[in-house]
Amino acid sequence: MESFHNLNPLENRIYKLKKPAFRFLCPLCRTEREFSTTPRLNRFHFLQITFLTSVTSIVFYPMTGLKILPIFFLYWSLFEIMVRVRFKSEIPCPHCGFDATWYKKDVRIAREKVKQFWERKNTVEEPEQSIEDEKEVVTEA
Ligand SMILES: [Zn+2]
Repeated sequence: MESFHNLNPLENRIYKLKKPAFRFLCPLCRTEREFSTTPRLNRFHFLQITFLTSVTSIVFYPMTGLKILPIFFLYWSLFEIMVRVRFKSEIPCPHCGFDATWYKKDVRIAREKVKQFWERKNTVEEPEQSIEDEKEVVTEA
């Protein structure tokens, strides 16, 4: 899995992460993709949750006693949401706009998203082209 260049990807030069969580090929443009995160909590997250629970417990113990301890589960669910939102933000392909989550839910919406991506990309690149076209017209006249 060292090189995918023989597959004729859309983008050969991609930004490489130092420690990707996992690597794969974009199913639409064959560009090599990397995820920096996974949708699961790791040991470090649970350490942070435990630390937050400890601090909150120490602060609120005089008022609530041990009833504050279930706040651990509130922090846990907040961390789960945070990790999943961050992971989902990485899913759409930055090269072709393919979004695997939408493809799984509704292929038509996924196709529409790719179309919108290319419309946006083309409108960004168009102004330069139109300036070049004007120059050509001037030189011809
Ligand atoms: Zn792609």
